[in-house]
Amino acid sequence: MIIEETRNNRDVYRPAPGTLARASAGGGKNINISFEFFPPKTEKMGEKLWSAIQKLESLNPDFVSVTYGAGGSTRERTHQTVARIARETNLSAAAHLTCVGSDKAEIDEIARAYWQAGVRHIVALRGDPVGGLGAPYVPHENGYAYGSDLVAGLKDVADFEISVSAYPELHPESLNWDDELDNLKRKIDAGATRAITQFFFSADTFLRYQDKALDAGIKIPIIPGLMLQPNYRGLCRISKLCYISIPDWYHNLFDPLDDDPQTRLLLTASTAADLAAQLRAQGVEHFHFYTLNKADLAFTTCQILGVKAQTNPQQKIIAS
Ligand SMILES: Cc1cc2nc3c(=O)[nH]c(=O)nc-3n(C[C@H](O)[C@H](O)[C@H](O)COP(=O)(O)OP(=O)(O)OC[C@H]3O[C@@H](n4cnc5c(N)ncnc54)[C@H](O)[C@@H]3O)c2cc1C
Repeated sequence: MIIEETRNNRDVYRPAPGTLARASAGGGKNINISFEFFPPKTEKMGEKLWSAIQKLESLNPDFVSVTYGAGGSTRERTHQTVARIARETNLSAAAHLTCVGSDKAEIDEIARAYWQAGVRHIVALRGDPVGGLGAPYVPHENGYAYGSDLVAGLKDVADFEISVSAYPELHPESLNWDDELDNLKRKIDAGATRAITQFFFSADTFLRYQDKALDAGIKIPIIPGLMLQPNYRGLCRISKLCYISIPDWYHNLFDPLDDDPQTRLLLTASTAADLAAQLRAQGVEHFHFYTLNKADLAFTTCQILGVKAQTNPQQKIIAS
């Protein structure tokens, strides 16, 4: 094991060579997976997304979710995409919904439309400030102010299954860990039954967070969110804005590869699978992949992890 310093000056577990093989071999338990997509902007992107969804359906995910653009900018497109998944596939579809940019009546109407379309699972979020990441957050005058308010409002509309966010490295606006975990508890008290984390790069980051949540009495499943972003420079930018630490070994791996997108793609699958395998070795059984609509990347990552495609995706076979 190699210990290195992070932004937060904490020790971090760094994978030793061969970790992946050991973690995979030590499996045998079920792996549950879920995938996140964003709603397509154009018809061409729509076709790409649809073939991605069909390819990933063969992996029999627990659910797939579709994001909601900042400030509600993809309201219709998110609805169309989620409703189509619910209508035309065997997948369990979840819609992301945020508080930003709409009053309570509008949000309730969106939620009712989802219920009518057969969508029963909402990923309920506050959303980023109207001015973008890092700008001060001002709740909508007549809106739901925070994630916990939205969860409570959705539960008043219908008995949705509700997932919420969690932050293994603190939400940038949280004052401290008590503040962070109190917020998650408020969302659970309001009716959330699952948390999906912000992405992170070290198994240790997630495992420490999981321990803190357990110590705080949080018992709902906390699903690690694993990012599949081969655009290293873009990933560095967003990670900085979200206060997510990228380990030195990751920088060393990707920094020289600006002109080699193919290698970055392969390494993205390999590092994400390695991270999942380390977590799996520690008993984590569900992984949520931020796919960025890149089906091949998500599919490859799952193959490395041992999740096999099914011709009849009602059953899942896990290589161990
Ligand atoms: C799994 C996942 C999926 C996401 N999907 C989307 C998406 O589809 N669309 C999108 O726009 N964004 C999405 N985001 C980003 C998210 O909207 C941002 O991270 C946003 O800044 C916070 O949303 P939240 O639901 O985590 O906020 P909250 O849980 O409401 O918390 C945000 C901050 O406010 C603080 N807070 C909470 N309640 C109060 C209160 N009563 N008074 C004062 N402070 C309070 C919290 O402590 C925390 O620091 C996603 C994030 C994750 C982790």
